[in-house]
Amino acid sequence: MSSSSTILLKNCPNDATFDLPPLARDPEGLAHDFKRYYVNTFGRDRDCLSAYYPYRALATILRDRLMERWKSTRQTYDETGCKRAYYLSLEFLMGRALSNATFNLELDAPIAEGLRTLGLELEELAAIEPDPGLGNGGLGRLAACFLDSCATLQLPVRGYGLRYEYGMFRQLIENGAQIEEPDHWLRDGNPWEIERPEFTQRIQFGGRTETHRDPNTGRMIVSWVDSHDVLAVPYDVPVPGYRNDTVNTLRLWKAAATDEFDLDEFNAGSYTESVAQKNAAEHITMVLYPNDASENGKELRLRQQYFLASASIKDVLRDWVRLYGKDFSRFAELNCFQLNDTHPAVSVAELMRQLMDVHHLEWTEAWDITRRTMAYTNHTLLPEALERWPVRLFRQLLPRILEIIFEINARFLAEVALRWPGDIDRQRRMSLIEEGYDPQVRMAYLAIVGSFSINGVAALHSQLLVEGLFRDFYELWPEKFNNKTNGVTPRRWLAMCNPGLTELLNETIGVEWVHDLEQLVKLAPYAEDSAFRERWHIIKQNNKARLAEQIRELCSVDFPLDAIFDVQVKRIHEYKRQLLNVLHIIHLYNRIKRGDTAHWTPRCVLIGGKAAPGYFMAKLIIKLINQVARVVNADPATAGLLRVAFVPDYRVSLMEVIAPGTDLSEQISTAGKEASGTGNMKFMMNGAVTIGTLDGANIEIRDQVGEDHFFLFGLTASGVESLRGHYDPNGLIASDPALRDVMNLLESGHFNQFEAGVFDPIILSIRNPHDPWMTAADFRSYIEAQDRAAAAYRDREHWLRMSILNTAYSGRFSSDRTISEYNREIWHLETVAPKTV
Ligand SMILES: *Cc1c(COP(=O)(O)O)cnc(C)c1O
Repeated sequence: MSSSSTILLKNCPNDATFDLPPLARDPEGLAHDFKRYYVNTFGRDRDCLSAYYPYRALATILRDRLMERWKSTRQTYDETGCKRAYYLSLEFLMGRALSNATFNLELDAPIAEGLRTLGLELEELAAIEPDPGLGNGGLGRLAACFLDSCATLQLPVRGYGLRYEYGMFRQLIENGAQIEEPDHWLRDGNPWEIERPEFTQRIQFGGRTETHRDPNTGRMIVSWVDSHDVLAVPYDVPVPGYRNDTVNTLRLWKAAATDEFDLDEFNAGSYTESVAQKNAAEHITMVLYPNDASENGKELRLRQQYFLASASIKDVLRDWVRLYGKDFSRFAELNCFQLNDTHPAVSVAELMRQLMDVHHLEWTEAWDITRRTMAYTNHTLLPEALERWPVRLFRQLLPRILEIIFEINARFLAEVALRWPGDIDRQRRMSLIEEGYDPQVRMAYLAIVGSFSINGVAALHSQLLVEGLFRDFYELWPEKFNNKTNGVTPRRWLAMCNPGLTELLNETIGVEWVHDLEQLVKLAPYAEDSAFRERWHIIKQNNKARLAEQIRELCSVDFPLDAIFDVQVKRIHEYKRQLLNVLHIIHLYNRIKRGDTAHWTPRCVLIGGKAAPGYFMAKLIIKLINQVARVVNADPATAGLLRVAFVPDYRVSLMEVIAPGTDLSEQISTAGKEASGTGNMKFMMNGAVTIGTLDGANIEIRDQVGEDHFFLFGLTASGVESLRGHYDPNGLIASDPALRDVMNLLESGHFNQFEAGVFDPIILSIRNPHDPWMTAADFRSYIEAQDRAAAAYRDREHWLRMSILNTAYSGRFSSDRTISEYNREIWHLETVAPKTV
């Protein structure tokens, strides 16, 4: 490859050559730098109409200030020779960078002041930044919260992901239905990355393998030949810690064509075909797959997975050779890879390949290193989300990797046979290869066999994993399995998004809670202080006003502030049961129509979330929500009693407005299906009370806050399982007048007057005895819990106590706690403080 950026300097100057004095942090100095970029770099002046260039100038002054800390962090890591961890994830849902950098660098006040002297508003400029939507939902957002906590805890952890040209689609609602629009988030450039073509890697696909004997050592060496190669070009994104001088790195790979042409084709006159092939290479990182909790088996997706695994491992091994040479004896001691779900699980075989074929280690040594450096996090129990790839696809796309997987499997099954002699059925069950007409590679099993640690993401989830899905593996290696309950970063999800509450917290319990969230328990006694409750109330009402303004703008629906704000925002999925929420709305509407409104609590229901474009039922549920909202909001009888809105294009920046303005948090998945949830934690931190099932981290939320401050309903996970086989939704509907009325309204076509029959698939799913989500089973208990929530809200002082206690007991759900556990029990990294800039 011969791009000018990869021609190396003959003599690299001593690093001190590039040392600079620290940059200004005062309002005047910041305003001066801002003007310099605005005028000299971007060439704008007072005639400029676009708000975009002031944003770019501001982003650049922040970037400069990250850059000096970033360099210092990198150098400190290199010089200390510390152990490092790598978080491998196909998704990083980072959210906006500008406000995060401003806050973490503690520049919010001076920048706001400096901008004001120029007649500009910090908030207005921050809102220009497009949300980098490089993830689907919880899994991608978790990766982002984890990077924030690693930098805050000063742990040497690097994120590795893909730089998708198109992130998560933009969701529009037309005639009640979801429309997907491509999200070309990079169109105007991205100030929050730097391209590092000098660290480009070459990734192989296709071709075949050849074996030959090394003439020097006599050992057999396998080569992967005749492959079609793609370049991986890294783009680095800075990840600042909270006010601590650490800036870690998220390295995102972009696919690029090699500069080589197919010469035969070229000379045969197919010039255009030959050039067009280059294009295909770049497709690998063109678009994020918009499926949450379901795999879809497309070849391009496997290409993405291998591209990430191969480029990242090559990057780490090159660094190793640079620092330690060709001796890998301490590699496992100093490196750890955390696999975010099975998406990057092919890394197990890829690390083996590189150690053996490139660095010429023996199998046993390479396997020992692999099994001591890989750790795997499982995120779901849903069978439709378990990744399996056809063996034939592997053979065609990654022939060398398939050979290695077969060898891992043969050796593993021999181990199983030794432990359980003659248990052929167990060998079949545990095999990495699922036999059949079209044999499949089971990616979760590859991850388990290749890892020293396997964790679930909430206590219940981890327990269900070892009792069910991974039971055989747990019997073989119980010591590998552990739990790491998820968390969210209190910087973005409390301190930044809720400035009103932050001010009250700082004044009441000091400022330490921002990086030591357990300190929030000091709030608990204030729940009994009526003056404090009044201040809490005013802050919540202000946040509700800000949210209501957004809803008015986006949905043209008015949310009165005296109503309870009842919110369910998350991906639309049958297991999350937005449908149960809709049934409750219809029930309330029916009560209003019947005149059953004594002791009514006015209620505003907000629902939001994206459906995978190919998920028919999820899209139909969106349509139903919108149609019910239209009928309810248009009916004069509901005025002042009930409002419903579906907010389009739910994303990180919207959640930053939604969570602070929520009273009631809906976490109503079928028990045993939601691995953890993290939306539930963001709401709790911001003083919302949860209505929820005993599922995922809801259980731990309820344990922390106490059963009196949580609205519990529904079957337990074991209750759900034991009901299977004799679940009778039609019997339940017939015997419950409220549910019968709701079904009658749905079935009468009341919400689809002009589209006869559109909701029939939903009606059938509710009445289906094999409905896996058992929506009807939990209806009665759900509306009773909703009644209790409504009554509790009418007692304002009581509700405020609950709200305060929810925030007070949310300390456990900081991702700082989660990451400390990963580090203590899996990674074993030392904290490393960089030289202060
Ligand atoms: C937190 C978050 C999620 C995860 O929400 P759950 O309720 O846990 O499914 C998804 N999307 C965005 C944008 C989020 O911020």
